[in-house]
Amino acid sequence: MSRVFLAPSKYVQGADTINSIGTYAEKLGSNALLIGGKTALSICGGTIQNCLQEKNILCHQELFNGECSDREISRLVDVGRDQGKNLIIAAGGGKAIDTGKSVAHEMKIPIVVVPTTAATDAPCSGEAVIYSDEGVFEREIVLARNPDCVLVDTAIIARAPAIFLVSGMGDALATFWEADTCVKSNKPNVLTGEFPPTLTAYALARLCYDILLEHGFLAKMAVEQNAVTPAVEAIVEANTLLSGLGFESGGLAAAHSIHNGFTVLKESSKTYHGQKVAFGTITQLVLEGRPAKELYEVLDFCLSVGLPVCMEDLHIANPNREDIKQVAEATTAEEETIHATWFPVTAVMVEDAIWTADTLGKEYKKKQMS
Ligand SMILES: [Zn+2]
Repeated sequence: MSRVFLAPSKYVQGADTINSIGTYAEKLGSNALLIGGKTALSICGGTIQNCLQEKNILCHQELFNGECSDREISRLVDVGRDQGKNLIIAAGGGKAIDTGKSVAHEMKIPIVVVPTTAATDAPCSGEAVIYSDEGVFEREIVLARNPDCVLVDTAIIARAPAIFLVSGMGDALATFWEADTCVKSNKPNVLTGEFPPTLTAYALARLCYDILLEHGFLAKMAVEQNAVTPAVEAIVEANTLLSGLGFESGGLAAAHSIHNGFTVLKESSKTYHGQKVAFGTITQLVLEGRPAKELYEVLDFCLSVGLPVCMEDLHIANPNREDIKQVAEATTAEEETIHATWFPVTAVMVEDAIWTADTLGKEYKKKQMS
């Protein structure tokens, strides 16, 4: 048994830190391909281009088409190769970042990641989630290395709609519970192949959870005013750095598989990754038979920041038995991380856990509101 801990080479976070991108980029390359969605490029494309220019780094902007799919990755690799690029800069949300990381991996060149939201833990990890061109989850790929630099400008993140920060908290919420399952089961981490998690990864996952409970609500209040406060800095660090390190080296379990399972339902595309992962976390705790006190703590947190606690909150209205059977079957596919659980998990067990978590969430919400 050997333990492994993965991390990006450099993590930089602060208000207006985007202005220092040239300093970090010039150590990594001289000819950059900047990949980003329309919103991301309009927010920071010009600033990045100017900062790189000051350091005599060439830069070409390429619009990301919206899906981290095999086709989009190879299109961007072709652009990069044609232009002799030796550095990728990926700006935007999880899918743009995963696409940029995959392009850098294919081209064997460094990458600077510039998240414009704190919605997922994609920025720090050495994995990418590949979807079909239609947005259905296909597979997770393990890249040769973690990003060379992750540059997080909290002023940009605070100006993004609050739903992104909240969704990121949903993704970060799963980190501790999934790592805890991996510690208990002592099975190889699907992502790293090693086990058990290092004490470091487990401690970071716990810290991530504690920060959410302590600062989550305050951070949400602040970003609703586009304000950067210490609570926002703490939550951005939890969502981006701690959750990223915690899930990758701590391991994934049921919460993310349940997320993947829900992507087979069309309605699930109306909600963000972290929103589905939050409900996946509640379902995981039910599935694992965790103490009620722990479930209530998670439910209270979700309600305080506005994360989903039932399927209705995920815009999955009136699901039928067949829908959830399909979700459960996708959740328990052979390659899914749900099998990291310390007991064998079947699709029927997942179905039962989903229906129970749904009722529990609905009833709990009603009780809290009355
Ligand atoms: Zn995630």
